[in-house]
Amino acid sequence: MTVRVRFAPSPTGMFHVGGARSALQNWIYAKQQGGVFVLRIEDTDAARNKPEWIEGILSALDWIGIERGAYEGPHFQSEYADEHRAAAARLHESGRAYYCDCTREAVQARTGSQYQGYDGFCRDRGLPAGEGRALRFRTPDEGETVVVDLIRGEPTFENKLIEDFVIARGDGSPVFLLANVVDDMTMGITHVIRAEEHLPNTPKQQLLWDALGVKPPIWAHVPVVVNEKRQKLSKRRDKVALEAFRDEGYLATAMRNYLMLLGWAPSGDREIVEWSVIEDEYRLEEVNPSPAFFDEKKLRAFNGEYIRALGVEEFVEACRPWLTGTGTIAPPPWQPEEFDADAFAAVAPLAQTRIAVLSEIVPNVDFLFLDAPLIDEAAWAKAMKEGSAELLDAATAAFEAVESWDAETLKSTLEAVGAERGLKLGKAQAPVRVAVTGRTVGLPLFESLEVLGRERAPSRARAAGARVV
Ligand code: GLU
Repeated sequence: MTVRVRFAPSPTGMFHVGGARSALQNWIYAKQQGGVFVLRIEDTDAARNKPEWIEGILSALDWIGIERGAYEGPHFQSEYADEHRAAAARLHESGRAYYCDCTREAVQARTGSQYQGYDGFCRDRGLPAGEGRALRFRTPDEGETVVVDLIRGEPTFENKLIEDFVIARGDGSPVFLLANVVDDMTMGITHVIRAEEHLPNTPKQQLLWDALGVKPPIWAHVPVVVNEKRQKLSKRRDKVALEAFRDEGYLATAMRNYLMLLGWAPSGDREIVEWSVIEDEYRLEEVNPSPAFFDEKKLRAFNGEYIRALGVEEFVEACRPWLTGTGTIAPPPWQPEEFDADAFAAVAPLAQTRIAVLSEIVPNVDFLFLDAPLIDEAAWAKAMKEGSAELLDAATAAFEAVESWDAETLKSTLEAVGAERGLKLGKAQAPVRVAVTGRTVGLPLFESLEVLGRERAPSRARAAGARVV
């Protein structure tokens, strides 16, 4: 039997990191089992679906390493409406489902509770199909439904606690629960690896598989991802969109490594490992079934390590979208013609060791490309003390006089200027740094001055000296 798994997102918004994790889990499982990964877009909720999100799903998957053309699909749920209806009809014909004309109010009046499920009133009325009549599944009164779940063992549900649930609405349209099962059946899915939030649907869905006479799949319900307050990551409250992380400059390699560590770890006390190690060692059976903390700080630290592991040229290439402003990434504060690739290449190794996400490259290097630095006023206020104007003037003069414009010389020059005023190098550096780069923190100062050049660096120091009051 060939293993066939599927990832079945609904195109209702940005691509959630939890979705990326489920997709990768399916991807790895298929690979390990020599199976097939199927992408199915569940696009039947017309009110919430938007076509633009479909492209978002495809490109997010592509980015994380599930490349177009390397899987089956995308299939679209909306294209299987005939199959959904045929299954509903079969269930009715075989007596496993019945029509029901009860209103919600009538059920509530009978059961006396808002929260109780359906009371089975129409079970044996033998109503034919008709406008406004829902089709309900006849849940067995006895026995239990045992779900075989790779992560959770065998969650067991008593059938008598499962109400006769609706499988097609009053207008005849099948509900998601049924459509999802019929699609899995039609597509020959053998393993359903999906988010834990679907677990309550699973016994109902398994009953549908049984009633339709097909062996149900093996399930794997992946634990939810939570924030530091142990709340389920929500798109309204938390940063959850894979696209947001991508645009901030997380590397796909770091992201997917981190996502796989939620609830699982490779052998030997390692965390940062080659993707091939994860592909070899990952075991769904070993995934911890309790909620997994999505720790953005840790992800950042991971990303920094991944950035530092790049070759310098790869790093330069990886920074390009932030240096030019591509796609959904905001353009940098300089004009394209102001960008100087050589200057950037000269400071890139210094930046590579200092940034955790690629977007941070921009504030680190903007002083090189702008006519005048973007002055951070708080930094200015902090750095410019009494005597700073005089220090800047002296530094300007000393810089203008150096023979060789290199970091070493510039450092000893400023050291001397500071010493004459009883200032240690650190103190003497602060106003110069703000004058030249606009900020109190950034790349090493003297290398920055060297790359900025003997034309621009002294004139910035002079201009700042004139501004200090
Ligand atoms: N379309 C469903 C969702 O996005 C997935 C259902 C499933 O995986 O079975 O949550």
